[in-house]
Amino acid sequence: MTEQEQARTPEAKNAARILVVDDDASVRMQVCFTLENAGYAVYEAEDGAGALALFQEHLPELVMLDVVLPDTDGMEICAAIRALPGGLHTPLVMITGLEDIDTINRAFDAGATDFISKPINLLILSYRAKYWLRSGQLVGELHEVQRRLFSAQKIARLGHWDKNLDTGLFRLTCTEPRMLGLTPDCDYEALFAAIDADKRDEARRQIEDACAADRPFSTHYPVRLATGDTRIVLNQGEVIYEESRRQRLAVGIIQDITELKQAEDRIRYLAFYDNLTGLANRSLFREHWNKVRPLASRNGRMVAVFFVDLDHFKRINDSLGHPAGDRALVAVAERMKLIFRHSDVIARAGDEFAPPSLISRVGGDEFTILATDMVSTEHIAHLAERINGLMCEPVRIENQLVTLTASVGISVYPSDGDDIDTLLKNADTAMYEAKRRGRNNYQFYQHAMNEEARLRFHLSNRLRQAIENHELILHYQPQFSTVDGRLSGCEALVRWQDPERGLVPPSEFLPFAEESGLIHLINELVLEDACKQAAKLVKAGMFAGCRMAVNISGNNIDFSILRRNILRLLTETGLAPEYLEIELTERVMMENVNEAREILQDLKDRGISVAIDDFGTGYSALSHLQVFPLTTLKIDKSFVQNMDASTNGRELLQAIIYIAKCFDLKVIAEGVETARQMSELEQMQCDELQGFYLSRPITVAALEERLQMTSASV
Ligand code: C2E
Ligand code: CA
Ligand code: CA
Repeated sequence: MTEQEQARTPEAKNAARILVVDDDASVRMQVCFTLENAGYAVYEAEDGAGALALFQEHLPELVMLDVVLPDTDGMEICAAIRALPGGLHTPLVMITGLEDIDTINRAFDAGATDFISKPINLLILSYRAKYWLRSGQLVGELHEVQRRLFSAQKIARLGHWDKNLDTGLFRLTCTEPRMLGLTPDCDYEALFAAIDADKRDEARRQIEDACAADRPFSTHYPVRLATGDTRIVLNQGEVIYEESRRQRLAVGIIQDITELKQAEDRIRYLAFYDNLTGLANRSLFREHWNKVRPLASRNGRMVAVFFVDLDHFKRINDSLGHPAGDRALVAVAERMKLIFRHSDVIARAGDEFAPPSLISRVGGDEFTILATDMVSTEHIAHLAERINGLMCEPVRIENQLVTLTASVGISVYPSDGDDIDTLLKNADTAMYEAKRRGRNNYQFYQHAMNEEARLRFHLSNRLRQAIENHELILHYQPQFSTVDGRLSGCEALVRWQDPERGLVPPSEFLPFAEESGLIHLINELVLEDACKQAAKLVKAGMFAGCRMAVNISGNNIDFSILRRNILRLLTETGLAPEYLEIELTERVMMENVNEAREILQDLKDRGISVAIDDFGTGYSALSHLQVFPLTTLKIDKSFVQNMDASTNGRELLQAIIYIAKCFDLKVIAEGVETARQMSELEQMQCDELQGFYLSRPITVAALEERLQMTSASV
């Protein structure tokens, strides 16, 4: 490096750097001097090689370059600098000795920014340098912005286009046009060429209609890439006015939104479909109705709403576990899908007014079906039969064959309702009717059902209040020993002391209590009252050798809760366990065999009596006498009353008493209404008797009176 090539003012650290290249020492000196005086850091070179070296070392922000150099042509150096790192946008000013147009044009082609001719006007040189530096800086910034934009476009797989709506001129700016199904030099037509054929016209129409109406547009469409992939592309934009030229410009961005679309589809799936079975869910069911309804009212055909509830599904969950339950539901869903396959209800092809039917899962084991295009009630009934029929085939789960049945309720648009809420409610009501009629069948909604359901609802509300207001009271029906005729115990029987209706018998409210689950609360209350009452009688010395029998009923009795309650009450009231008897039917015990056996055994071991109630009705399996830990068998009153009607009945009764004795059970007969029944049962060695002939159920006061009489007579 020669001395002249050194920067003359290295201390000017923040000053803009200018490289001056000229072989004419006097010109160079004058220029450098002027620029230094103006505060710039100036580097000077006398030939091309020196210029390139200094450029790379100092990266000047402005280069002034003589056209004629000793070693090479200034134009070549100009082009060489443009190719150097950092040299692309640096302002390059050519110093021309001759003002001929040819040199100026060549300089322009070589990438020069500007030119200045000799002799140089030194008075204004520093000002011109200032202008050059500023425009250089602006160009640099512009390029930086553009670079960032491009990299952002690339990351976002974004392209930008605009079309001059007056001249038709089209431009595309895009780093990776092929990823959007375009080519770098594509025209406006090509914007649509890669769109799937059936979506192409629609996309174009949307954009062009919006442009014509001066509205923003946003549309997306599938685009087939050269690689064969299909991507979803969003095209979004608006019309702007170019003020300077008073022209309208449509500008848009195009973006690959395939992943976004996929996520959106997934969200839609989660929002509208049941994850387990893949059937529609409640929301989609409703949405579908909104589409179906207007079409149905136009074509005048019926729409049937089926409410399908699996019978005893809980048993599968309880006995085989939830995963097995889930598999059963999937199997059921698969069958449901068959309902509309090869069936006469598939929407007729070409019928624009026939929206498809839809099956959805709306709850654990509840399904709803929207069957469109129904022509007659028979048609609907036929479909319902198909549902019941498809369900009946056993499914294999966990290597077990399980038979599922369903109760189906049906409501029909327009006769049973105009809106989906009403139709669903009515189908649900009809489904309950199907359950009531023994399950595994279908029922059409009838207006009267609604009234019944309303009444039931009203009643369970009233019952709830009655419990809170202590309107439930107990009567006690005495039981007597056949050995000595003494009062041996009593059965607590609940009554509803309704301020409006008077004394309501249990047959009028317990069924609702069972349906609504209130029965569990009633069991508890009765147990509590009966224990308190018994404890009182024991303390008064009136209950020696007697038992207080309490009925426990309802679906799904939780035996461990029952035990906990009983033990708590015995402690609280101080009642000894041998005074208490609980009465359970076979049905109640069978619902949860293992738990019932274990806990009843424990209660029995503690001295509490356990009676099997209503024996002779329902299941009535003698084997149950062996399976369950019992102390007492209560023969149902229907047996006692049939005794007179047939000899057969008498023999059966005798046999039951005999077998009960073999199992070491005490036998008590209820419903004894006549002297004859009483003496026959005595002869059969039935241990105890209960019935209207001996005593009706009586109030506490009457019971106390009776007990006083007996204890006094002893
Ligand atoms: P159940 O357990 O079979 O109770 C015996 C029923 O037979 C009582 O009817 C009683 O009044 C009636 N009965 C007694 N002797 C005769 C007779 O000689 N002839 C006739 N025809 N009937 C007689 P009630 O009190 O109306 O109770 C009906 C049913 O309600 C009971 O049948 C029982 O299943 C249920 N129940 C009553 N009280 C309660 C209770 O506190 N809790 C629970 N869980 N259920 C109860
Ligand atoms: Ca009973
Ligand atoms: Ca009974």
